[in-house]
Amino acid sequence: PYDVLVIGGGPASASAAIYAARKGIRTGIVAERFGGQVNDTAGIENFISVKRTEGPKFVASLEEHVKDYDIDVMNLQRAKRIEKKDMVEIELENGAVLKGKSVILSTGARWRQIGVPGEEEFRNKGVAYCPHCDGPLFEGKDVSVIGGGNSGIEAAIDLAGIVKHVTVLEFASELKADSVLQDRLFSLPNVTVLTNAQTKEITGKDNVNGITYTERDTGTEHHIELQGVFVQIGLLPNTSWLGDTVERNKFGEIIVDKNGATNVPGVFAAGDCTDDPNKQIIISMGSGANAALSSFDYLIRNQVK
Ligand code: FAD
Repeated sequence: PYDVLVIGGGPASASAAIYAARKGIRTGIVAERFGGQVNDTAGIENFISVKRTEGPKFVASLEEHVKDYDIDVMNLQRAKRIEKKDMVEIELENGAVLKGKSVILSTGARWRQIGVPGEEEFRNKGVAYCPHCDGPLFEGKDVSVIGGGNSGIEAAIDLAGIVKHVTVLEFASELKADSVLQDRLFSLPNVTVLTNAQTKEITGKDNVNGITYTERDTGTEHHIELQGVFVQIGLLPNTSWLGDTVERNKFGEIIVDKNGATNVPGVFAAGDCTDDPNKQIIISMGSGANAALSSFDYLIRNQVK
């Protein structure tokens, strides 16, 4: 069995595995796709101490760092079931069952996509999902935010301080965000809010040049010229495979305490799959390290055989 078995291959997992391996204990990583969301990231400018890098380059250095340690990396393997016996058992899609005296869940999340023409085509060419990451790329430009929930309205407020103008498109007849956020939003001079607006298409040539939507009550189609579209209709944690074993909140995020511990003894979690409110590379790495140190503490206090 592994002393620490890490499920996932993103920044949280890499950090957790390196911290565990540095304790000289048997460490494994099971990753559906090593690198995680960072594989899909163009520029990264907020990983402190590295002024600017690119997603694939960042993944390559994560991999290089992991390979520097005695860590079993099982890439292109997906975990499908977890069960707590005396140890924690993880069943993979290929039927293999791995055992861990402790397990760190770091299966990340994915942005919910709007699924209209142009979204895929212009991803990283004007279509963005993370205002903290990509907001500054749109300085002085016109952008839209799709989604009027808390994350959409927070994004719109954030972006309004950087870009020239923000248009919020909400499908429903009213915004769903908390009223304190709405009050703040409506106090800003460079924001337009459109409700009952169904996004039809994101247009562009090499990069985004506009968005087309229909007014749902009249059926009228409109086109707005702009350079950026932030899709903010939810972040889905990759946790449905956990069933009822590990406690999750209403968004499906794994509930963790300050030690990264879940409700199941010996099972820890880190990164975007948890209920940590802020989802960023640097934060997921910190939480991976935290979970690994907590796992080590668990192992020395509980003699799991
Ligand atoms: P992920 O990166 O989501 O990794 C999860 C890992 O788990 C993957 O390897 C996945 O294949 C694996 N996995 C999932 N399910 C299973 C399973 N059942 N079995 C085995 N493995 C599984 N953050 C920044 O700080 N700066 C940025 O500039 C930035 N830009 C971004 C741009 C884009 C387009 C996106 C999508 C995100 C961006 N982020 C950025 C956010 C950042 O990428 C995430 O916060 C970070 O990757 C979270 O790390 P994680 O390890 O928790 O999860």
